[in-house]
Amino acid sequence: MDRKDFLKLLALGPLSGAAMKLNELNKLTETFAASEQMPILFIGHGSPMNAINDNEFVAGWKTMAGKLPKPKAILCISAHWETSGTFVTAMKTPETIHDFGGFPKELFETKYPAPGSPEFALETKNTIKKTTVGLDEKWGLDHGTWSILKPMYPKADIPVFQLSLDYNQPPRYHYELAKELASLRKKGVLIIGSGNMVHNLGMMKISSMADIDKEYGFDWALEMNTIFKTKIKEHDHTALINYESLSRSSKLAIPTREHYLPLLYILALQEKDEQATFFNDKAIAGSLTMTSVLIN
Ligand code: ZN
Repeated sequence: MDRKDFLKLLALGPLSGAAMKLNELNKLTETFAASEQMPILFIGHGSPMNAINDNEFVAGWKTMAGKLPKPKAILCISAHWETSGTFVTAMKTPETIHDFGGFPKELFETKYPAPGSPEFALETKNTIKKTTVGLDEKWGLDHGTWSILKPMYPKADIPVFQLSLDYNQPPRYHYELAKELASLRKKGVLIIGSGNMVHNLGMMKISSMADIDKEYGFDWALEMNTIFKTKIKEHDHTALINYESLSRSSKLAIPTREHYLPLLYILALQEKDEQATFFNDKAIAGSLTMTSVLIN
């Protein structure tokens, strides 16, 4: 039932006990809520320290979370979970994975105890027809997921599950697979792609880790940031799938594609009448962009 039907029904007059029992009305409003389509997000996650730091990017995430309808569950496609084949985390209580090195003890002691969602994991598996999706019990939440969700949803009371990136597959495959996730948006699932559009760790220019959040971008990083935003605004997804042809700077911006692919998952879910809004639109450390996208 969509909003129009619901309003039409209400316009029919008072709902007498005989016409509709209270529990039936409850069911109806549940359906109504479930039919609201959730927005979708791409988040530039940057340093894992953002999980515990306070900076302008974290502030941007918090503001965004405050504007969104409360999700029933969160599905994250993180740059940090690459597998052969496609998997979805299906455990009830996912572990917080500290998949990095060289950071302070405080970060290794940080946990994000959100529950998993075996139900939505199974639904995701059944929804995807392009490949056989495996139910995973061993992964958990990697820092591409928990370092952004901890500031966004600090209570950790919303179930979270992840979908892996199949490293054997080309960009178009990921884009097509992502289209099959569309029905989850109507069921209250917030789908987040977590990566960085421009991500070249080998070329980072910082004097210490404390500098990592300072705004600074090489010419080629800024050029690519502008190209990505222009193509997103133009809904030119084909150009973004074939990103290697966008510019000679593409190779510098995307030396390996795992941080870029989560963007394609989000774009694939964009409907014709939906617009993209950018936030945290800045380059840091020379060769990373924190640019994030809301689509609704
Ligand atoms: Zn990362």
